[in-house]
Amino acid sequence: KAQGRNNYQQFTQSMQLKALLHARLVRDLRRAISEQQFCLYYQPIVELSTGKLVKAEALIRWQHPTRGMINPDQFISAAEETGLISEIGDWVFRQAAWQTAEWRKTLSPNFHVSINSSPVQYLDKTSRMSLWLDYLRTLELPQEAVSIEVTEGVLMDKISTAPEKLRALHDAGISISLDDFGTGYSSLAYLKKYAIDFIKIDRSFVQNLTTDSDDLALCEAIIVMAHKLRMKVIAEGIETAEQELILHDAGCDYGQGYLYSEPVAAEAFEKLFPPNH
Ligand code: C2E
Ligand code: MG
Ligand code: MG
Ligand code: MG
Repeated sequence: KAQGRNNYQQFTQSMQLKALLHARLVRDLRRAISEQQFCLYYQPIVELSTGKLVKAEALIRWQHPTRGMINPDQFISAAEETGLISEIGDWVFRQAAWQTAEWRKTLSPNFHVSINSSPVQYLDKTSRMSLWLDYLRTLELPQEAVSIEVTEGVLMDKISTAPEKLRALHDAGISISLDDFGTGYSSLAYLKKYAIDFIKIDRSFVQNLTTDSDDLALCEAIIVMAHKLRMKVIAEGIETAEQELILHDAGCDYGQGYLYSEPVAAEAFEKLFPPNH
């Protein structure tokens, strides 16, 4: 009995600790926004037929004053629960767009950027996204240079304003990418209903491509289906040349993964471009 109580005490203590840590995280996130502690890393996306670096995915990092560099998995859900993700998402969009406008001048004139978005950003009634389009005009960055990544969850959500917002972005010339494809509901109806331009095959299918013939069959089927629907395919998480070769032979359009580079800071990303690219 004594032990039972002890366990209960430990349980409530750990609950309290969790609540405390969460409150600290939220406070720190608010400060991170006002003190501009976020930065973007960029991971190359390569055209498989030519091996050329043609795009990058922008991935957020948090340079915490005492905890050091923090990855998104550790703070995005707290930012979503508190709604702070809308503000963070606006910053991500502007920063990635600004950087892309720069790189189109200095590195490669057709460079393209892919920007993640959260389901929570589609719950706002006000359209912050029309401000995104205004900002692209200010930068003189063509809408075609930008893609917005959504997960299947965004498309499923009934109360979300995602249909209108994604349609407006798409009509303006921004492309829509379906992230982590195959891990959610993967309802084929959504591929028809939404104007999707790119399907990103989730890393979990790419991982065992060389050993698991079912994963290979799934990748091949996704690629064929996407092409018939006039979509392009990006394979995520390519780590080996073997995986790259298989995907290339299966007709996959683009590849992304540690084989090419991990996500890196902007200065390091510039060095990935050959001189006179
Ligand atoms: P994601 O959008 O699916 O991004 C791909 C993740 O896979 C990145 O993790 C990347 O570093 C990792 N990755 C890329 N290639 C490889 C590989 O070859 N092997 C392995 N093992 N991993 C690879 P990261 O940067 O930690 O981001 C995690 C997730 O956080 C992202 O998944 C995305 O859902 C979210 N996220 C990142 N930035 C943002 C953002 O600005 N806004 C929102 N809303 N979410 C973001
Ligand atoms: Mg993504
Ligand atoms: Mg992904
Ligand atoms: Mg993911």
